[in-house]
Amino acid sequence: MAARIPLRVDHGLPRDRRARVLSDLRISVIDRCNYRCPYCMPEDDYPRDHKFLSKANRLRFEEIERLARLFANLGVRKLRLTGGEPLLRRELPELVRQLSAIEGIDDIAMTTNGSLLPASVNALRDAGLDRITLSVDSLHETTYRELSGGRGEVAEVFAAIGAATAAGFASLKLNCVVMRDINDGQVLDMVEHFRGTGHVLRFIEYMDVGTCNEWNQDRVVPSAELRERIGARWPIRPLPANYGGEVAQRWSFVDGSGEIGFISSVSEPFCGDCTRARLSADGRLYTCLFADHGHDLLGPLRAGASDADLSQLITAIWTARDDRYSEIRGAAGSNSRERVEMYEIGG
Ligand code: SAM
Ligand code: SF4
Ligand code: SF4
Repeated sequence: MAARIPLRVDHGLPRDRRARVLSDLRISVIDRCNYRCPYCMPEDDYPRDHKFLSKANRLRFEEIERLARLFANLGVRKLRLTGGEPLLRRELPELVRQLSAIEGIDDIAMTTNGSLLPASVNALRDAGLDRITLSVDSLHETTYRELSGGRGEVAEVFAAIGAATAAGFASLKLNCVVMRDINDGQVLDMVEHFRGTGHVLRFIEYMDVGTCNEWNQDRVVPSAELRERIGARWPIRPLPANYGGEVAQRWSFVDGSGEIGFISSVSEPFCGDCTRARLSADGRLYTCLFADHGHDLLGPLRAGASDADLSQLITAIWTARDDRYSEIRGAAGSNSRERVEMYEIGG
């Protein structure tokens, strides 16, 4: 793996209106996906002939690298590649290689549905990818198929886990979006399967991202309820966060069989620590997962803006940020307004 440049001491970095620094950038490298998960990209809204971004309107790797370098100068230390399905960008290892050479970046991760992972996992590791998060919503064939919109097979997830482990990614994060009466009855089976494997299963509360998943609070299973169910079978205890702003709450099995995580954006919002920005595949900067608009960086970049101009623009956007959607969710009107779709900015 590529050597990492040590962290610098952070002085005078931009802070938003709630004093939050910008330390984590999620980069959506493509808006397309080979799955149609009903909670993200329902088939009815995104049929096979749906018009996604053209190649010309998508950030090129050198443009992503340039922006990432500017973000690193402004305090970003962690990058996450996502999508859509990031592995639909076939040359992704080349992007990872470029990003891993940026001074100040100390962690590069990727979130993927795993279906295309076996073919590229070695190249990704050699290019400097540090961590992989795999989406695994069920281990049951029928439910998995249903939650991928009829496009994925659970056998592909097992193949992805095997390939990643063999490539040296010993501890994967496994994301499971829990929806009541769809897969919440399978939570204990999933815990049983992954306990003691070294992988960290994380249960994500179903979120009201975007506008087309017909989100309904009744489908949300609060993490507290899951913790009670899991803890009744295998006692668990809370662990301290690994770092400030960590999204998942970490819990460990008392018997030493590893840890699990809970991402509780609906029931236990964590906006106060949110140091994340999101760059969409068409070069827009979103300061919140639930933002109704992004700030165009691609236009200025292609119009010849200098590094200093772009840094100034990013700083102005970040310092004006006041987002805390999850804390005010449910306030009058907040559920009905426009919101960016999850596949555009990658979660
Ligand atoms: N396609 C890749 C994948 O599925 O892993 C990366 C992009 S996907 C948008 C990133 C993550 O967002 C996935 O783990 C997915 O389960 C999660 N996600 C998408 N829609 C969601 C929703 N409505 N609520 C909670 N999580 C969601
Ligand atoms: Fe695709 Fe990921 Fe969205 Fe599922 S969650 S439709 S795999 S982008
Ligand atoms: Fe961050 Fe917005 Fe999520 Fe709050 S709702 S944690 S501000 S992305």
